[in-house]
This record gives sequence, C-alpha cells and structure tokens, in this order.
Amino acid sequence: MYNKYDLRTITIKQLIVMRPVKELCDMLRERGMKITPQRRLIFEVLQDGAEHPTAEDIYHSVRDAMPDISPATVYHALNDLVAMGEVTELDLREGKRRYDPCTDGHYHLVCLNCRGVVDIMRASENPKLLPEEASGYQIVRCDVVFYGYCSGCQG
Ligand SMILES: [Zn+2]
Ligand SMILES: [Zn+2]
Repeated sequence: MYNKYDLRTITIKQLIVMRPVKELCDMLRERGMKITPQRRLIFEVLQDGAEHPTAEDIYHSVRDAMPDISPATVYHALNDLVAMGEVTELDLREGKRRYDPCTDGHYHLVCLNCRGVVDIMRASENPKLLPEEASGYQIVRCDVVFYGYCSGCQG
C-alpha cells in the first residue's frame, strides 16, 4: 500500500550546485556587470549557506561580515543571478521568496509547521505536457511542491 506512494526518490543536499564563485564573477564581468566585494560575499553565502534561504536570510548572513551592506544590494545581486539562470526563485506560499542554487528540475517537500524544505530528485522525468495540452505555449518552468508535516511535526 505504501509502495503506491513511493516516489523512489533520492534526496541530495545539492545535486547541482551553483557555479564556483570565481566563474560566476567572470560571467558577470563579461556581461558588463560590476563585481563588488559585497556581491562576491552574497554569492559565497548562497553557495554554502542554508538551503533555500530567503533574501532576508542572505542579507543577515552577509551583514555579519559587512555591516554596511544594504538590503537593496542583496536584492539586486539575487535578481541578477535569477536572470542569469544561476539561481531559481521559489514561491512556497509563505509570502516571501526563497532562492535555490540547485537549478536542476527537482520537487520540493515543505513542512507546513516548521517550514522545512527538502529537495527531491527524481530519477524519472519530471512531469511534461503533451504538445496538444500545451496550447501552443513554450513551457519554461514547472514547479512541483508537496506540502505536509515532517516527522518531527506530526502528532
Ligand atoms: Zn516540520
Ligand atoms: Zn530545492
């Protein structure tokens, strides 16, 4: 009975990580963007920081090292990374966005109580629309999020 719901998943912390910070900085420079010490630090925090952090989380981590940094600087840097496809923006219905350095298509499992987020990598293909179902749309993204209560939050 349980097998019916067994997704045969493997959960990996970050299967596809962001590009190394140096490479990322080179890419930004090629596109005429400025690399400031603040931006470099934001990239570093994103790379090895908490999973699926919010912009606020990132801001607080960066501020520990650079007390003068402004939230706007953090938002701009994040927007650039999203525009470049290096980071995925996640909306988990919390009223705030999270940032995921793992850009490989994966599912998310969210605890409605503690807001824990788990990455789920499926060996099989992600859901796809048949061409006749897509109504001529060019599909660029598909989000699959399961909501529930983690084992620590049940009962
Ligand atoms: Zn929980
Ligand atoms: Zn994720």
